[in-house]
Amino acid sequence: MPELPEVETVARQLAPALVGRRVRRFEILDPLLRGKARVPSLAGRAIREVSRSGKRVLVEFTGRAEGGEPLWLAIHLRMTGRLLWCARSAEAVSHVRARWTFDRGALIFADTRRFGTFSWYQKREAAEPPGLDPLATGTTPRALGRLLGKSSQCLKAWLLRQDRLTGLGNIYASEILFHARLSPFRAAGSLGPEEHRRLHAAMRRVLERAIANCGTTFSDFQDARGFEGQNQRFLAVYERGGERCRRCRVPVERVVQQQRSTYYCPACQH
Ligand SMILES: [Zn+2]
Repeated sequence: MPELPEVETVARQLAPALVGRRVRRFEILDPLLRGKARVPSLAGRAIREVSRSGKRVLVEFTGRAEGGEPLWLAIHLRMTGRLLWCARSAEAVSHVRARWTFDRGALIFADTRRFGTFSWYQKREAAEPPGLDPLATGTTPRALGRLLGKSSQCLKAWLLRQDRLTGLGNIYASEILFHARLSPFRAAGSLGPEEHRRLHAAMRRVLERAIANCGTTFSDFQDARGFEGQNQRFLAVYERGGERCRRCRVPVERVVQQQRSTYYCPACQH
């Protein structure tokens, strides 16, 4: 499942290709994606912005909000969703669920397992997820400390809740805790100010590096150019159970928390 860095990668790659382009034709080819919502007409409307909101790609279109036209489309890629920019419209892509055609080029939403979703909004605020974005400037060590509060939930599970921080999933939660040298079993509310600083710094470092590497691909993730991410080569603990810790050489351990694998170094993380 794509997490924050994978979605950020796709949004950053699409923005320069799409912003300012006018939609000539918009087609939803999969009825499941249409759902019960009225599908707005996008023909003649231009793309104003492409960004990320939590784990979703957010596309802003020009239009009249007061005329009932939704201006924002949030695309959740889920397991296998891919947004592909095709400079020449006729490129062969399978499992296409939606397509935007421009005067030159096309944007394709392809999705083998069909779990991806579209949500339309009239206001940007309505599309925002409830939690803080880990990369937002307002997410300081102190803000993180306030958010952790007195929570008795273990740190790993706390990082995965989307109502506190948004965008983190199983891969980056393990990686962040390793780089922060914090045990995944610690109670989230038991951290001191120095540990809030470490957690905050690790979060930024791990996510920014993953974005620089165009995301992590273990099975399905592809960026907007159809390439796999490269960040799996740089992971410190995830999927490295039994291999030696890159810092202290003690074997990395794997445990199951909430039916998900957690990887950590028993010697480095406290
Ligand atoms: Zn270690």
